[in-house]
Amino acid sequence: MGPIRAWVALSAVAVASVADGAAELRSPRLTVRVFDYARMPVRVLRYAGLQAAKVLRKAGIEPEWLACSPPSQACDAPMAGRDLVIRIVNRDPSGAGRAFARAIQPGDSPGVYATVYYGRVADAASRAGVSASLWLALAMDHEVAHLLGLADGQAGVMRAVFGRRDMDRASCGLLRFAPGEEEQLRAGMATRLAAEPIEAELASAAGTP
Ligand SMILES: [Zn+2]
Repeated sequence: MGPIRAWVALSAVAVASVADGAAELRSPRLTVRVFDYARMPVRVLRYAGLQAAKVLRKAGIEPEWLACSPPSQACDAPMAGRDLVIRIVNRDPSGAGRAFARAIQPGDSPGVYATVYYGRVADAASRAGVSASLWLALAMDHEVAHLLGLADGQAGVMRAVFGRRDMDRASCGLLRFAPGEEEQLRAGMATRLAAEPIEAELASAAGTP
């Protein structure tokens, strides 16, 4: 319980610089509600959030990760356009495939939900000799990008399958979205913000959830 609060606090520090309206205009804030059903080590989740935020920030997206296990009042609030949900579970209940994560992308409307299979992430990270938090961070960024409208790509974070070289680059902070993808991310975010009621915009600019 305590460590989870610490993760929230760390996230709050990370987004403190964009709590005012001016920063909001420069770098729109994306709120991701994280439900940890895998009961993973808190330090892994905390560092994954920090790593994932760094990559999104380079693309001009400022994320706020809300720890929702147990759910806080913010986690139960009505969803707005800028709100996404990531569920972290141990195993894919279908047992099918080898995907590390999946985003639910309904037809014409933007997706909201993604699921990360922590067991597969941890196993792959162990085999590759990298930290589970790093692999988890890339999986989170990849799925957030799908929910913002990106498809799989040939390089960087949107590669469908990560390789050893990707992980080496990620370890050095060099793995990011491709330039064209970063533009798509910002466009996807803008579309979501445009769909929000004006009341939500004003509340966000005032620094209230
Ligand atoms: Zn993908």
